[in-house]
Amino acid sequence: MTELTFTLTEAKRLPAAERDAILADPGFGNYFTDHMVSIVWTKQDGWHQAEVLPYGPIPMDPASSVLHYGQEIFEGMKAYRRSDGSIVAFRPDENAKRLNDSARRLALPEIPVGLFVEAVRELIAADADWVPSGADQSLYLRPFMIADENFLGVRAAERARFIVIASPAGPYFKGGVKPVSIWLSQEYSRAGRGGTGAAKCGGNYAASLLPQNEAAENGCQQVLFTDSGTEDTIDELGGMNLFLVRADGTLLTPRLNGNILAGITRKSLIQLAKDRGLAVEERDLTVSEWRAGVKDGSITEAFACGTAAVITPIGQLKSPDFSIDFGDAAPGPVTLSLREELTGIQFGTQADKHDWLKVM
Ligand code: PMP
Repeated sequence: MTELTFTLTEAKRLPAAERDAILADPGFGNYFTDHMVSIVWTKQDGWHQAEVLPYGPIPMDPASSVLHYGQEIFEGMKAYRRSDGSIVAFRPDENAKRLNDSARRLALPEIPVGLFVEAVRELIAADADWVPSGADQSLYLRPFMIADENFLGVRAAERARFIVIASPAGPYFKGGVKPVSIWLSQEYSRAGRGGTGAAKCGGNYAASLLPQNEAAENGCQQVLFTDSGTEDTIDELGGMNLFLVRADGTLLTPRLNGNILAGITRKSLIQLAKDRGLAVEERDLTVSEWRAGVKDGSITEAFACGTAAVITPIGQLKSPDFSIDFGDAAPGPVTLSLREELTGIQFGTQADKHDWLKVM
């Protein structure tokens, strides 16, 4: 809990009928709720001025430091409406901790975990009408932090803002889970040793957009980034972590090597797999090992995971030099059953044995 009190300025941007029409088919990231949370930080006074405000533009000076040196970090998380009407968030404390890991790397201030969770709770309370209740729907929450000192010197800003916005989200896969094709980026990397790969900062995503375009030009939905040194060691996808499944059920996933994001879906799936007695190897994985394993039958499934799509089966890997099809289009049994278990916990149809859901 926090000692800060949030002030609320109420606003309804849309008549209920219009909002409900949006909730019937929100897609992803298209519409925003009525309010946003804003908390100010200064080096001198720490965190203060916690507000729930009408959603809208943020006044900003053209010299604001985020616009020049890119000190920006963010999170992505979801809240779900359960059949009894209550609203729960999935592991919000993990997002708070990861935001603070990012904050340290980007020389931004850390925010107390309790204040982060309270900010999310205040926004959900103000915008509860926007939490959809349809199948596979959720409220996507986007907490983020920007440096906003009006100063052009290159140093860590002494003023920052933490903001939370929210957007209703529909099912990621309409009409069933579909395998994706991924593009092996050879020319570009998203992170290098000692860089910001493990932080969730806007700059990492800016660096991934050109290769993402290249992927799209080659008929792929996602990019696979490898280690910039070896060009074979797998890091992660543009916005998801990667898992391979061996024929004996063992899960393989790249270790947290400092270049990749510590996905909360990744962490949760590792736990669920271990609960089932499956072995999980977090270690260096290579594209060569993956290709050889598919060829000799020892690697039977591959999937990507993240908050937006939960689990996405990988059907194909393409590069300028080769293309491999990982068998028929149907997602494998381990991929599907882990997906069902995790979404079941999130939507309240399976027991939440690790206490991951927090009532908002
Ligand atoms: N890697 C990257 C680069 C991402 O952007 C994301 C999405 N946040 C992930 C992995 C998956 O993380 P999470 O499971 O916490 O959504």
